[in-house]
Amino acid sequence: MKRHAIIPVFIPHLGCPHSCVFCNQRAITARSGPVSAEDVRRTAEQYLSTLENSEGCTVEMSFFGGSFTGIPIEDQSRYLAIAKEYKHAGRISSIHMSTRPDYIDRRILDNLASYGADVIELGVQSFDPEVLRLSERGHTVEQVYEACSLIKEYGFTLGIQLMIGLPGDSYWACMDSVAQTVKIGPQIARIYPTVIISGTRLAQMYLDGSYVPFSQDETLRIAKDMYLGLTGAGINVIRVGLKASALINDGDDSVVLGDTYHPAFRQLLDGAIARDRIEERLRTTDILTVRAGSKAFSGAVGHKGANKKYFAAEYPQKTVIFKADASLGDYETVFEDGSGGNPPEAPGKKQ
Ligand code: SF4
Repeated sequence: MKRHAIIPVFIPHLGCPHSCVFCNQRAITARSGPVSAEDVRRTAEQYLSTLENSEGCTVEMSFFGGSFTGIPIEDQSRYLAIAKEYKHAGRISSIHMSTRPDYIDRRILDNLASYGADVIELGVQSFDPEVLRLSERGHTVEQVYEACSLIKEYGFTLGIQLMIGLPGDSYWACMDSVAQTVKIGPQIARIYPTVIISGTRLAQMYLDGSYVPFSQDETLRIAKDMYLGLTGAGINVIRVGLKASALINDGDDSVVLGDTYHPAFRQLLDGAIARDRIEERLRTTDILTVRAGSKAFSGAVGHKGANKKYFAAEYPQKTVIFKADASLGDYETVFEDGSGGNPPEAPGKKQ
């Protein structure tokens, strides 16, 4: 598979007029200040220098951090001009940004198009009006539809970001967000479980008891069904769970509250999906061999071997054999009834 690298350019939304309850941007921007054109160039050069020998690698420059199209259009143009320069020189392949649904209109999109921007991701978070209201997002579901329709009309690649577990959220609200996302038909999506960061409104709500987060098991169950719903409709889910670096910056004294962040959430998700598939196959056989490519193998055995332990405990009369198979594609998994050419294990014994 072709390697893909990202040059992340953090553009804080200075003076953002919104007050989304989960957001710690104010704390971050108070420390980081405005980003100069020189900063963008320095970041690009720094990342590109690490990729010098990566022939065939695709590189995106990604503006993230707040609402790129909410900053003054002159500033957007200043940053985009640098990205365009790198793209024309063939040093990056695409220009990405994330923003809010209510910061999309024709003037903004014309400007993005003139600089050769490729991908626009919208922080939609939820399609439930009550969840949006309680989370103080400050935009409506109608604005989401309008923005998506315009972005598609202009021919940009559309991304939709959804969150799990905001105030007022439920399993069914999340599933409805998936259904509406599928109806809109973006090319890419991200799923972010809500994380409570100290210093935010959400942290206050958690501490005074007016907000109760989902348990990690519930979050995982919802994330799994959302992921399967989106990918089943052909949407490429490019990220599940926040990176640690996106939560708290260097020198930040913020902390995560409650059991709301797992650094290996994606691995937990892959393990949960693999467990269901293995369990389904085990209904019709007593011995099952699971062969998996390099990336799929860790999902098959589960985070810290959780699936191995699970099948040993729950199916003592059956045998599941896990095999890493370099002849398969990285993400490929093959199930075979029986021991796959190996002598069958004694019932109950697991590999
Ligand atoms: S999430 Fe974005 S729009 Fe909301 S307060 Fe933070 S920076 Fe502003």
